[in-house]
Amino acid sequence: MSRLFGTSGVRGVVNEEFEPRMALDLGLALATQLGNSGKVVVGRDSRTSGPLFESCLISGLLSGGCDVVKLGIVPTPVVSFAVRFLGATAGVMVTASHNPPEYNGVKFYDSSGKAYSGEAEEEVEDIFRRSTRRARWRDIGRVSSVNVLPDYVERIVNSVSLTREFKVVVDCANGAGALVTPQLLRRLGCKVVTLNSHLSGFFPGHLPEPTADNLRDLCATVRSIGADLGLAHDGDADRIAAVDERGRMVEWDRLLALASAHAVRESGRKVVTTVDASRVVDEFVTAAGGELIRTKVGDVNVLRAMEEHGSTFGGEPSGSWIWADINPCPDGPLSGVRILELLDRAGVPFSKLVDEVPSYPVVRAKVECRNEEKERVMKAVEERFRHVFGDVREVLTVDGVRLTLEDGSWVLIRPSGTESYIRITAEADDEKRAESLTEMAGELIRQSREVIKIKG
Ligand code: MG
Repeated sequence: MSRLFGTSGVRGVVNEEFEPRMALDLGLALATQLGNSGKVVVGRDSRTSGPLFESCLISGLLSGGCDVVKLGIVPTPVVSFAVRFLGATAGVMVTASHNPPEYNGVKFYDSSGKAYSGEAEEEVEDIFRRSTRRARWRDIGRVSSVNVLPDYVERIVNSVSLTREFKVVVDCANGAGALVTPQLLRRLGCKVVTLNSHLSGFFPGHLPEPTADNLRDLCATVRSIGADLGLAHDGDADRIAAVDERGRMVEWDRLLALASAHAVRESGRKVVTTVDASRVVDEFVTAAGGELIRTKVGDVNVLRAMEEHGSTFGGEPSGSWIWADINPCPDGPLSGVRILELLDRAGVPFSKLVDEVPSYPVVRAKVECRNEEKERVMKAVEERFRHVFGDVREVLTVDGVRLTLEDGSWVLIRPSGTESYIRITAEADDEKRAESLTEMAGELIRQSREVIKIKG
């Protein structure tokens, strides 16, 4: 039986992979896990199937004896905020994040507003399959509705002060961010122009993933109206993307480098990022006097490392950034505000800041590898990499194998979590070197696979 929970909760095509009965049973399973009592906040994004899955999930929770507080359409980080703000036992977000409109899914949060870890999800899945428990008729839960958006906005507004009046274009991809980010920026004294900021589960403006291609209108608008910058979210607004005043989408790694250095200067020395982030993040964090910790890909892992090292900022190059002073999960509106804050402190045009961040060429490749062979191949890679790479300065094995070489270039060899591949990422000063590193890594994987075959 395939696992229900993937890398980010349960997600699938509506009425095919993810159908109403599953949401109902997941609600009941969560209620069972919570001991058939407590209060659960439930939010959803703007998808057309949102009310359907919200109803099913709530029915499951009520049947399992939990009270439910409906938040309505909210960005994902608002669920995390609301759990703590309302003193709830858990939170659920009905969302498929940046996936196309035919998808939906759910994501769970614990009483401290943190996304469920893999272990906690497994526990729910186990109950889902085997041992859900309903409440007696007199103990079924009650439903209420609360609008927490004003309190969430207030919390962020109180955490920042801007000295300039920014002109900002915001593209919310017709998603949940439309209910927060434009209002939030206006509260901070910005002049705001919105794009795709009416709610629609069909995502008529563009697909809800903030890629350069999807943000072409945003880039053109920023340039044509002379705005200081553009900001964009994915469908559930836990991610941020930015466009400079010249209408260029800022590369993810460069944006992360700027945000990380800002975080070091403002709030703390230690910053967390993932193994796949560029070395510019190291360079900017070090130059700002900070220390960079690298961890496994995924926001739950980033948060875990932040807690371990006492850091207040952790970010992935996908634009999923966690600012622990406000919310223990990736927060798009908050990240947008922090970008404004760093621009305000710098006092120069966004493009000038961006151009100061080097951009190193990255080459990506993949080598086929059967799922059951992955672990052994990776072990062989770990044992054999020195035969192929002679000048290794640093080895990191928190997520695949990441080798930093003497010239500062690096290569990451990492098994795909979902497909039959081992992926290679290489970054170097020039394209040719990145390509040759990729080829060497490919050779290393193939050799490691052969070694296994001979052994086996
Ligand atoms: Mg998202």
